[in-house]
Amino acid sequence: MAKAAVFLDRDDTLIENVPYLGDPTQVQLLPGAKEAITRLHQAGLLLIVVSNQSGVGRGLISKAQVHSVDAKMEELLGGKGIITAFSHCYAAPGDPYDERRKPSPLMLQEAATEHGLSLNNSFMVGNRLSDIQSGASAGCRTIILELRIPPEDVKACAELATFSAKNWPEASAWILKSKESPQ
Ligand SMILES: [Mg+2]
Repeated sequence: MAKAAVFLDRDDTLIENVPYLGDPTQVQLLPGAKEAITRLHQAGLLLIVVSNQSGVGRGLISKAQVHSVDAKMEELLGGKGIITAFSHCYAAPGDPYDERRKPSPLMLQEAATEHGLSLNNSFMVGNRLSDIQSGASAGCRTIILELRIPPEDVKACAELATFSAKNWPEASAWILKSKESPQ
């Protein structure tokens, strides 16, 4: 059977959102993220971060700074290798090459090709409507994490997401249960 992944938004899903974060000392995990990621990793799911980082396209931070934040987050989540891959779109909206930005499913589709994934058996977890739209467009089951949803996205996320999770323990438990019954 093709492999399954959990696609993960980064900012306000795994770590506290600091706009255009380039300083790894400011990385703070959201409550329950480490334990949930540990459980998903132990269950054999690939964990792939898909993140819009328009601060690079806007000239506010460098790719190296984004990578240093990623590395700090991975260390806090359990150490190098717990995240299978990081995929970023660095373009700002309206820039050339912005077509990979979520809500586009392109980053998920690229990762599926690279890692031999079944998107139908995979999951997308995020805090915004654009995360849920990207996962749905890719054919994944989608989980809206209710910890940090922007107010304007609450209603649409509740309607579109496959599952609404109040917190990380609920999200990981639902994924672990659902992975046994592919859609
Ligand atoms: Mg986010």
